[in-house]
Amino acid sequence: MPDEPKWSHVNPAELVDYFDRDLSDDEEDRIELHLARCEECAQRARQAAALCNRWERWSAGSQREAYLRSVVRNALESAAGEVILDDTWKERIHRWRSASAGLVEGVVRVTIEAVKKASRVATDGMEDLLRPGAGWRFTLQPDPVAVRGVQPGRSSPAKIALAVCSDGSSVRVKVEDHDDGTCEVVISVDQFPHGRLMPIVILASIGQGGTEKPRLLQMRRQGQGLIARSHDLPAGEYLVAFEPLSAGDSQ
Ligand SMILES: [Zn+2]
Repeated sequence: MPDEPKWSHVNPAELVDYFDRDLSDDEEDRIELHLARCEECAQRARQAAALCNRWERWSAGSQREAYLRSVVRNALESAAGEVILDDTWKERIHRWRSASAGLVEGVVRVTIEAVKKASRVATDGMEDLLRPGAGWRFTLQPDPVAVRGVQPGRSSPAKIALAVCSDGSSVRVKVEDHDDGTCEVVISVDQFPHGRLMPIVILASIGQGGTEKPRLLQMRRQGQGLIARSHDLPAGEYLVAFEPLSAGDSQ
């Protein structure tokens, strides 16, 4: 069948329109006929359908809370099994998972796109994950690089999430685009007292599959503050979650 002149595969945009029911009846018919005959596209359609369900689940408030918590708890469970961790980290991860029930000090959602410069951060819909009294509540901040020259349009993806703490210090989660098309997630704190315990950061893949293992990021000192970086992330959705710490925790 592939040599027929009129044969053309269903492209991803058409699949999205198809599942959103944005197509004419003729277009729908064409796609359904094609999906019935082309295993390659049928497989892609199944993946797209699963993704749509995932988004529905994401926006359905009551299930979202349980879902998000399970993402963090599963990531912590998986991380606790890492052999490279020392006992102190294992203990802290265990405490995070059990005593704090997987709740976090702060959290940001990061979408890594295969398309250059399309990756972004988001902060909405994650209040349910915060521990009571959580100190790091992130909001989106305009990217100073993007506003230089051209005003960002509606489609310009947000690159920086910012949280300002009660002590006046600020925490940033940022997606940095590199010229080679890859991007990097950079987490930084501008002021952090010496001697205070540095939070563990976990970067967990959202959604089914779970082929990408959760990453534990160790913050390190940079000037008066802290920094952690994570690069070479495959395209996908991630949570960047911060270990809950009380002000009295010290090294
Ligand atoms: Zn096809």
